[in-house]
Amino acid sequence: MSGVRVRVAAKINLSLRVGARRPDGFHDLSTVFQAISLFDDIQVRASPIGSGRTISVAGERVDGVPRDDRNLAARAAIALAEAVGQPDPDVHIDIDKAIPVAGGMAGGSADAAATLVACRALWDTEIADEELHRVAADLGSDVPFALQGGTAQGTGRGDILVPVLATGEWHWVVALNDGELSTPQVFAECDRLRSCGLSEPAPGDDSALMAALRAGSARDLAPCLVNDLQPAALSLRPSLAAVLAAGTDVGALAGLVSGSGPTCIFLAADREHAIGLAAELAGSGLVRGVRHAFGPVRGAHLIP
Ligand code: ATP
Repeated sequence: MSGVRVRVAAKINLSLRVGARRPDGFHDLSTVFQAISLFDDIQVRASPIGSGRTISVAGERVDGVPRDDRNLAARAAIALAEAVGQPDPDVHIDIDKAIPVAGGMAGGSADAAATLVACRALWDTEIADEELHRVAADLGSDVPFALQGGTAQGTGRGDILVPVLATGEWHWVVALNDGELSTPQVFAECDRLRSCGLSEPAPGDDSALMAALRAGSARDLAPCLVNDLQPAALSLRPSLAAVLAAGTDVGALAGLVSGSGPTCIFLAADREHAIGLAAELAGSGLVRGVRHAFGPVRGAHLIP
């Protein structure tokens, strides 16, 4: 039995506005996500009764990805089984990762969303979309968006989603950087910088950003990109400043840290511009790797 295959995209945050820390430890967020064409592929198949979850992971720098029930994909299989009243699931999950690990592109959340879609198909279970969304949100703030894809505004912990109209295709250059940044550590650093008066939330709102997306204008979008976590990511990883500068020096319309970093993203005017930028950045010697990606792309979906 070959199992079920699902493809899932990385997310970027075109805007990431971080509010106050809540009593439950999470921060209120207002964000605009876009799913871009950097994909993890997941294959899930039934395994013999009693074998639990087994996981294999392929891809670059995946040594740190857990192969047991700490893996978000395994947790997704368990959560879905619980939600639909199935016994402890016996599944093998193959994860082929192109989304950088701990890179601020929600790779673990993507794998969780993909596993929800795969197990739903494998078990031929009927679960309403709203219920699947609830299971996804319990797994992590970014999991609902990985299910949905496209371009969307997220509020709450980032899990309350409303689709956003983004006209046309947007081209990005993704700069992969060495090492990982832990999302909780980056949020803690953001709190610390704010408490010392060294950083504050970006002013204004996302109305100009939404208008640029509707109009399909990369040049209008460029000045609207914002990431409240960027000062914290730069504080923990000062070398990222040189990467951002290199991107704008070679002509990117804008550059910013992706989510909690250390991946950086650069906005291009169109496909040709992105391909040129990617080549220049790759030659800079400052980054581990460069990818050209476009968005928006769909959420987690079955593939043949
Ligand atoms: P986010 O932006 O959603 O906080 P991220 O993109 O920075 O996360 P992930 O790639 O999701 O980071 O990985 C964060 C940590 O989660 C990893 O260090 C790893 O230990 C753990 N993890 C659990 N499951 C996975 C998975 N399927 N893929 C990658 N990491 C996973």
